[in-house]
Amino acid sequence: MSASFSYCDVSLPVPLDQPFTYLLPETLRHRVRTGCRLLVPFGTRKLTGIVLRMHETPPESPAREALGLLDEEPALDGELLKLGLWISTYYCAPLGETLRAMTPLAGDVRRGKIYSLTSPGRDAARQLHLSNGGLDLGSDVSSAAGNKEVHGDPSVQILRLLDARPLSGSYLAQKVGRAAALLRSLEKKGFVESEDTAAGRDPSRASAARLRVEFLKRAPEQIKAGKLPKPQRELLSYLELHPGSHNLAALELSVPKASTAARALARQELVRLTSEPVGCGTASIRPPHTLNAHQEDAFNKVHAALEAKRFHTFLLEGVTGSGKTEIYLKAIESVLALGRGALMLVPEIGLTPAVAGQFHHRFGDRVAILHSAFQDAERAQEWKRIRAGDASVVVATRSGVFAPVRNLGLIVVDEEHDQSYKQQETPRYHGRDVAVVRARDAGAVVVLGSATPSLESRYNAESGKYTRLSLPERIEQRPMPRVELIDMRQEFLETRKSATFSRALIEAVQERLENGEQTMLLLNRRGFSSFVACRACGERLECAHCSVTLTYHRRDRRMLCHYCNYSERVPERCPKCDSEYIQFLGLGSERVEDELHGAFPKARIARLDRDTVTGKHDYETILAGFRNGDFDILVGTQMIAKGHDIPNVTLVGIVSADVGLGLPDFRAAERTFQLLTQAAGRAGRGGTPGIVLLQTINPDHYAVRCAAAQDYEAFYRKEIEFRRMMQYPPFAALANVIVRGLREEDALQRSAALGRLLRPAPEGVSILGPAAASLSRLKNEYRYQMILKASSRKRLTDVLTELRRFAAAEKWNPTMLSIDVDPVTLL
Ligand code: ADP
Ligand code: ZN
Ligand code: ZN
Repeated sequence: MSASFSYCDVSLPVPLDQPFTYLLPETLRHRVRTGCRLLVPFGTRKLTGIVLRMHETPPESPAREALGLLDEEPALDGELLKLGLWISTYYCAPLGETLRAMTPLAGDVRRGKIYSLTSPGRDAARQLHLSNGGLDLGSDVSSAAGNKEVHGDPSVQILRLLDARPLSGSYLAQKVGRAAALLRSLEKKGFVESEDTAAGRDPSRASAARLRVEFLKRAPEQIKAGKLPKPQRELLSYLELHPGSHNLAALELSVPKASTAARALARQELVRLTSEPVGCGTASIRPPHTLNAHQEDAFNKVHAALEAKRFHTFLLEGVTGSGKTEIYLKAIESVLALGRGALMLVPEIGLTPAVAGQFHHRFGDRVAILHSAFQDAERAQEWKRIRAGDASVVVATRSGVFAPVRNLGLIVVDEEHDQSYKQQETPRYHGRDVAVVRARDAGAVVVLGSATPSLESRYNAESGKYTRLSLPERIEQRPMPRVELIDMRQEFLETRKSATFSRALIEAVQERLENGEQTMLLLNRRGFSSFVACRACGERLECAHCSVTLTYHRRDRRMLCHYCNYSERVPERCPKCDSEYIQFLGLGSERVEDELHGAFPKARIARLDRDTVTGKHDYETILAGFRNGDFDILVGTQMIAKGHDIPNVTLVGIVSADVGLGLPDFRAAERTFQLLTQAAGRAGRGGTPGIVLLQTINPDHYAVRCAAAQDYEAFYRKEIEFRRMMQYPPFAALANVIVRGLREEDALQRSAALGRLLRPAPEGVSILGPAAASLSRLKNEYRYQMILKASSRKRLTDVLTELRRFAAAEKWNPTMLSIDVDPVTLL
């Protein structure tokens, strides 16, 4: 029996701190509960908010009436609401925006269509992106095609939105005017395909990435000989030669136009199309292992804590290949046996179909997968299964920390040092830290795992806040890879050539090719040349909107800004001195691949970086190809460094260990150490021992030296001293305060006003700045920065609250002040 109230306070996703009071219509009075989502009028808009409280107190000005209730069950239970409040205070973020980030995106699972790009559509989007217009989409689709001003062209907008990920029709309708008609037209032209969200639909309507195709019967010879169009014939012969079912999107790499051909063939009943189960891939399923002594020891401690049903945090420090995953899986089994639920967080890039498959295999239907790349409807569906208690094991990326797992008993955070756990927009929370707070309130156990723990977590383990567990050896006593440092300055002195690859690296790759073993090559910078400069006057070409140099991408023959995606053609002459000596400097992964082809013309080479991974399945497709031995060499950015377990890789080459080392950021050394160690850890995970060749011009830098020695301990000792001396985390609570403005004057003056407000500095707080941020201009906005270091968390929160109050009182536009608490980068 629920009580009836006339009013409720609703927290809305707007950058204002207070809740708003609404009148509840008669029909809703008995149904609304705290934590439910409510649709309300706000200005001229309709917004979805979260009900915080119901009451009988009429507000001072007459309240508007709520429009509708989205949940019968609260979307956020008491525990999660409390967590939201904590996040809002700790990270200085408005509550409404915080709560919105905690609930699934889709308002509800309505029937509707999900749109995605076809491969011609993707090409079109790319081309548009690069050419800033000029693509002929057909006059009735794009009235502004060929016109300079393409940003405003709605069909171009749609292509661009869909290039990022598949989207629902209702979402597109919100963003773009006349979306429905434009989508129909784009679909007719073959740029876009749609899929019904309602279950049980004809599978051949699903997007290629979600379909498997299988050979059904031999086509009569006459059809094969002539009647069928070429793509269909090609697909048939491919399927005949490669029995079994294939993912359609993956097939498109080998068979041109496979997707269209498969659909046509399915109608003729020559092939069968089935939908790919959500999140489940072509993983090689491994049986559970018997734990070795170190694993056993670590697991027993976790198990005891689970049985005690009390909050406890473990830091599982295990070298690469030491078998951390098996401990996670066993711990999850234990917690399920105790009748509680489990949540496992993985980095953005760590949630591959292979990982999902492993969990499905072990826990079957009890697993739900939440990935930011999933469509809203898909996520909402998984979310409902979790809330209903049908799924008690959740594997998720960052925002999955808010999954409504019933009776939560365990949270695992894999690769806890990974930066993708920090959200880079409001609320700027850290998934790992939120996990610990959530577990504390739920009386759950936390396991943070990493081969290279963050300084913060390791420090917490030292100080007794966390319990440290260690796996010091690789599984089956496989040796750690041998790392050789190659001093590229010495190499230059000896060869008198500034080459991308040292002689030793070339030789080692050659050896692998001869032995049929595989090589991974890391260069953590995409593009061809990292900057373009004038040889006469030294001018470096910068983005028109940001204070950063443009990167040359040869495939597109354009220079691209990696911060805002602005692009332009390479000028024939220097815009400053008019000389024609434009040169391309600095190495990127695209050029590494190019030079590799030159050095090893016969090698099969693939590249994994943000330029080659654009769709949601590209990443897994390329990796799976490499794992299957379709390629000899995989070149890539940090994407190749994470968690992959590919036994045939016996050589890891780090083309330059120096990328990122010189950044003006107190975490530069930590990040470099982590990246190099993780990358090195990819070598020799199978039976054959591996070697790592690490090219650098900073062979004496401690991050490089410790990574070469695979010595986390030594790195930690050195780095923690630096942090202590400089009063950086974990020895201070840190915040990065940025004041932004389209006019430099505004940003400058306002940051100065904040500076004055904090003078003299409050006790226990030290302030750097205000000064121009190291990224002084970004997306047309000028940026001024203050870095606050406080001796206690409370002091920091107090000062930040004061700054926010000041900005609100001065009626600053809320986007002008951005506060990043516990920043992972100060750029
Ligand atoms: P980590 O995450 O620590 O780098 P993984 O969990 O990927 O390591 O384990 C490395 C490899 O060892 C995997 O192939 C895994 O299946 C295997 N493995 C894990 N535990 C055992 C065990 N007790 N016995 C044999 N193999 C194991
Ligand atoms: Zn010049
Ligand atoms: Zn830019």
